[in-house]
Amino acid sequence: MVNIYGPTVDSEGRCTHYQTPLDIISIKFKCCDKYYPCYKCHNESESHPIKRWESDEFNQRAILCGVCKHEMTINEYMMIEACPECNAHFNNRCKYHYHLYFAI
Ligand SMILES: [Zn+2]
Ligand SMILES: [Zn+2]
Ligand SMILES: [Zn+2]
Repeated sequence: MVNIYGPTVDSEGRCTHYQTPLDIISIKFKCCDKYYPCYKCHNESESHPIKRWESDEFNQRAILCGVCKHEMTINEYMMIEACPECNAHFNNRCKYHYHLYFAI
């Protein structure tokens, strides 16, 4: 079972910061190899700065669907709007925060 760290409010990866029905994605952070629902969760729980995924690492499985716990690659995640396994839709406003997680 994949563990989601930080101040989560349910088992699907919603947190104290983002908890709409669409906020089901967690991101594995390269710096600590842990899944957090968002960068705020990471920064409240860790004392080190975020290390972003580099573009040549986007084939890593670092994105977790909180509904079915399917892990997908960063490349895959960026091209889809719903989970390929359970079809749960993602919050497409996460796109505005890509630069916090990925070196794009
Ligand atoms: Zn970290
Ligand atoms: Zn959060
Ligand atoms: Zn899913």
